[in-house]
This record gives sequence, structure tokens and C-alpha cells, in this order.
Amino acid sequence: MEQPATEVNINQAKLVIIQGDITRQATEAIVNAANSSLMGGGGVDGAIHRAGGSTILEECRQIVSRQGRLPAGKAVITSGGNLTARFVIHTVGPVWRGGNQGEPELLASAYRESLRVAAANNLGSISFPSVSTGVYGYPVAAAARVALGTVASFLQERPTSIKEVVFVLFDPVTFEKYLSVLGEIAGGVRK
Ligand code: ADP
Repeated sequence: MEQPATEVNINQAKLVIIQGDITRQATEAIVNAANSSLMGGGGVDGAIHRAGGSTILEECRQIVSRQGRLPAGKAVITSGGNLTARFVIHTVGPVWRGGNQGEPELLASAYRESLRVAAANNLGSISFPSVSTGVYGYPVAAAARVALGTVASFLQERPTSIKEVVFVLFDPVTFEKYLSVLGEIAGGVRK
């Protein structure tokens, strides 16, 4: 049987999904699924701060003292500290409250704003985790549709500096769900 595609090309950019640890990615930026305090936490947030060191947290502290807590759906950028990635883009996804509290819009916004920040900084590549599907409880298949759909439309809309978007899925179940949604999307994208 043919293996399902882990990669699609959209408008001279590629959208890739892999299973792995985002703290080890070599894209120019990695995205953190942060919380509004930007003060670190569990899950991928804790892993990024542990691997990246204290300068990331210090920059987050400065951002919060300038502009206050980061609302869901928004994104900010810091340096990557000790990470291979030069930058971390911190975004806040929605907490899942049943799906009728604007969760899909906020999740789409988190991805879109992260991409916007990357393009505004002229970055060529960016990695995302599966925002909101850990502690925040967003169902994975629904989140994968929003995540991949939002990135695909962003890349389709206009050319930007971004030539590679990688989804780094930590566990095999999440990876498989993203893989099947990518298959649905691959049928519908303009090459
Ligand atoms: P949220 O609070 O937005 O739900 P979590 O960090 O709890 O964020 O979970 C988001 C996703 O990140 C989950 O699928 C979790 O398994 C995954 N994750 C945890 N650690 C890592 C890591 N080092 N690299 C990539 N993904 C990770």
C-alpha cells in the first residue's frame, strides 16, 4: 500500500508533518503553545523553556510588562536562547469549552498570527506543535483541521518569506490524526 504523504507543496512553500520533539527542530522559529502569562508551564511550554534557558523567560517578562498578558489568538516573538531555532514565537490557543465559545476562530487566529509574526520578521521556516490539544483539551482531529487548514490558506493567499512550515507532533496518535487530515487537504490544494 502507498504511504500517506507527509508533505504538500503550496504556492512554492512546503507544509510538512513529522513526529518528534519541537525543541530539537532547526527551523528558524519554533512556536510555543504558551499560556497568557507567558511565564512558562507544563507540556511543550515547559519543554521549550527548559531547553532554551532563562533568556526566553526574561524576554517574555519584558513583553508582559510592556503590553500585559497575551490574549488567546495572539502571538509574540522572542529569541531562541540556547535552542537551535533562532526565535520562539509564543502563541496562546483557546481552552476547549465544548466548541461553541469561539474555540475554532481563536485556534485559527493563533496559527495565523504566528505566521504573520514570522513573515513580518522575514523568516523562511517555522515549526508548530499541536496548539491547544494537550492540557487545553481541544479534540485532536478537529484541531488538526483548523491547524492545517489555516496554514494552507495562509500560504495560498499570498507569497511571503515563509517557505517551510513543519508540524512537529509529539505522540503517534496526534501524528496519525494530522496525517489523515493532511491527506484530505492535499486533494484540495492548488500546487
Ligand atoms: P496546550 O496547553 O496548548 O494544550 P500542551 O503543551 O499541553 O499545550 O500540549 C500541546 C501539544 O504539545 C500536545 O500534543 C503535547 O503532546 C505536545 N508536546 C508536548 N511536548 C512537546 C514537545 N517537546 N514537542 C512537540 N510537542 C510537544
